[in-house]
Amino acid sequence: MQIADKSVVSIHYTLTNAEGNVLDSSNGQEPLAYLHGASNIIPGLENALLGKAVGDSLQVTVEPDEGYGPMREELVQDVDRSAFAGIDDVQVGMQFMAQTPWGEQPVTVVKVEGENITLDGNHPLAGQTLSFDVEVVEVREASEEELEHGHVHGAGGHQH
Ligand code: ZN
Repeated sequence: MQIADKSVVSIHYTLTNAEGNVLDSSNGQEPLAYLHGASNIIPGLENALLGKAVGDSLQVTVEPDEGYGPMREELVQDVDRSAFAGIDDVQVGMQFMAQTPWGEQPVTVVKVEGENITLDGNHPLAGQTLSFDVEVVEVREASEEELEHGHVHGAGGHQH
C-alpha cells in the first residue's frame, strides 16, 4: 500500500540541522504515526512521503518555507518584568503560553536584562534547514473516526 491522502503512516525518523546535530529522533521509541493529508507534519516531509511504501527509506532536506517557516522578527518582543507577576525568577529558556493576535502561542524567554525581558514566539525550528532520515514502518487506511478527528489514534498517535 502506497502512502496517499487518508493513509495512517508510521515512520522512524532522525532529524538533524544544517550543522549535522541531531535535534530529534524516534530511535528507541514508538514510531511517529501521522494522518497523511491532514497537515499533521510539516509540508516538506509530508510531500516527500507521498507514494512511498513500508520498508522505504528516504533522506529529505526541508527548507524553512516547507518546514517551520522563516524566522519572523515581529514575533520577538520586549516586555516589562511586571508582565510576569507571580514568577520571581524569570530565566532564559523558560517557556510560557502568551495571548497574541494569532491566538495562544508558546513563547520562549531569550534575554533577561534588568526589568526588560525579551520573548521569542517563533517555533524553535523556524528559519532552519532540516534534514530527515526517514523509514516507513507501517501504512494503513485511516478509520472514519481518525478522519473526523484529523489525527491518528492508538500507538504513536493520540490516546483518547
Ligand atoms: Zn481523536
